Amino acid sequence: MRKPIIAGNWKMYKSFDEAVEFAEAVREQVPSEDKVDAVICAPALYLPTLVDVATETDLAIGAQNMHFENEGAFTGEISPSQLASINVDYVILGHSERREYFNETDEAVNKKVRAALINGIVPIICCGETLEERESGQTEEKVSTQVTAALEGFTPEEVKHMVIAYEPIWAIGTGKTATADDANHVCGKIREVVEGLYGQEAAESIRIQYGGSVKPENIDELLSKEHIDGALVGGASLKVDSYLKLLEAA
Ligand code: PEP
Repeated sequence: MRKPIIAGNWKMYKSFDEAVEFAEAVREQVPSEDKVDAVICAPALYLPTLVDVATETDLAIGAQNMHFENEGAFTGEISPSQLASINVDYVILGHSERREYFNETDEAVNKKVRAALINGIVPIICCGETLEERESGQTEEKVSTQVTAALEGFTPEEVKHMVIAYEPIWAIGTGKTATADDANHVCGKIREVVEGLYGQEAAESIRIQYGGSVKPENIDELLSKEHIDGALVGGASLKVDSYLKLLEAA
């Protein structure tokens, strides 16, 4: 039985005060960690404070990106060991916005996944197709290529602890959601790719989220599907009420 994981991706939203207010409002209300992993991936600036606010609660804090080196002359970057030093638990890697606007490649994502594991941070590895790719029947090939590249060079044991987020790019922030059956189909294909690379145990253990306009109104159906183990949520994770409803659904 895979434990659901609901991760909010705040992107570049919220002031510092709004972020702290949110974490203080939800920290005592999130369901027990035994039932669901509740994560907020916040702007990097706020992470140390949010980690403090969430200490000894069932709320976990994640970053939205990081470099793959632990230190070096990389002006403006944040390293995995720096994130680990303030007890950040998760990091989103290879989000389509990072791939599109910041030229993040499959190779860089693979290095970041390795760096996350070395530093004890759980990677949430994003993959997904554009509308054009979907319409020309390339969805499975695209996600398979991205997942194979991101997961290259690990052991089955390491892969078991990773999280993959299937996020069709055309569904992110658009209000359009893949149907639950379509999302489940692609998540199932991703699981097959993991099985082909690392065997059945790794494939059955790795958690695969769906992301793309998830909200309280559609989460139940998505989570009822065999291969969907949670959600990576942008817009609907910004309000306390809807974030808590998403967690309750899990
Ligand atoms: C995301 O940011 O990864 C995302 C899925 O956003 P939204 O839920 O707003 O579509």
